[in-house]
Amino acid sequence: MNVLDKFNLTYDELIKVVLCKKCSYIPMIRLRGKWNVCGTISIDGHLSVMRDYALLVNEVFTNQLIKSFLLLPSSSITKYLLTSATSLALE
Ligand SMILES: [Zn+2]
Repeated sequence: MNVLDKFNLTYDELIKVVLCKKCSYIPMIRLRGKWNVCGTISIDGHLSVMRDYALLVNEVFTNQLIKSFLLLPSSSITKYLLTSATSLALE
C-alpha cells in the first residue's frame, strides 16, 4: 500500500526541509552544527524530516537525497547527520 495515497499526498507535497518552528515555512539552514534561520535554533530538526520521509516514502536514504532535501552544504555534514540519526534510531 502506498502511504502517500492514504494521506492523499503527492511526493512534491512532502515537506523535505527543516522548517522553523516559529515561522513554520522558512527552510532552516545548517550552520555551525545547528539549524538556524531567523534566530530560532534547532539542534535535531533534521530528525523529524528523516522520520516522516522514512514513514511516508519507505525508501532508503542516500547521502545525495538527504543532502538535497535538507539543503546541506556538504556530503560530510550529511554523512554525520545520517550516522547520528541512525545511531539514535538504534538506541
Ligand atoms: Zn523562524
